[in-house]
Amino acid sequence: MGLFRRKTTEHIPVQWKITKKCLELIFESSKSNYPQEFGALLRVDRVNKNTIIEVVLLPGTISGDSHAIFHLYMLPVDYSVVGTVHSHPSAIARPSEADLDLFGHFGRIHIIVGVTHFGDVSWRTYDYKGSEVLVEVI
Ligand SMILES: [Zn+2]
Repeated sequence: MGLFRRKTTEHIPVQWKITKKCLELIFESSKSNYPQEFGALLRVDRVNKNTIIEVVLLPGTISGDSHAIFHLYMLPVDYSVVGTVHSHPSAIARPSEADLDLFGHFGRIHIIVGVTHFGDVSWRTYDYKGSEVLVEVI
């Protein structure tokens, strides 16, 4: 334990958090858009930069089952926007090939919400590589 040992914080994964209120809004939007997809951007708190507090709707976002719902050229240059959220009316909250392509091009955290015909929701969160990450609900 040397006094001058370098900090290794860059190797520690970000501990993401999301507010319960934001998550509930995401679930409601996913359900109300069913059987179409819901898509939006995730915005973090400006002070607590690992805490997702808000969804930002993209103008002209296309709903559909193609998963190609985000137009990269419309994404804002806004460092409080950290990633995306979209729903899968297939109920399966796993990224498609198109999703992985998107994740690799934009953002650091991505939520997929699986919605069933009965209004049940499940959610999973992924990093830019499509690896699952844990998010604490606060
Ligand atoms: Zn998808």
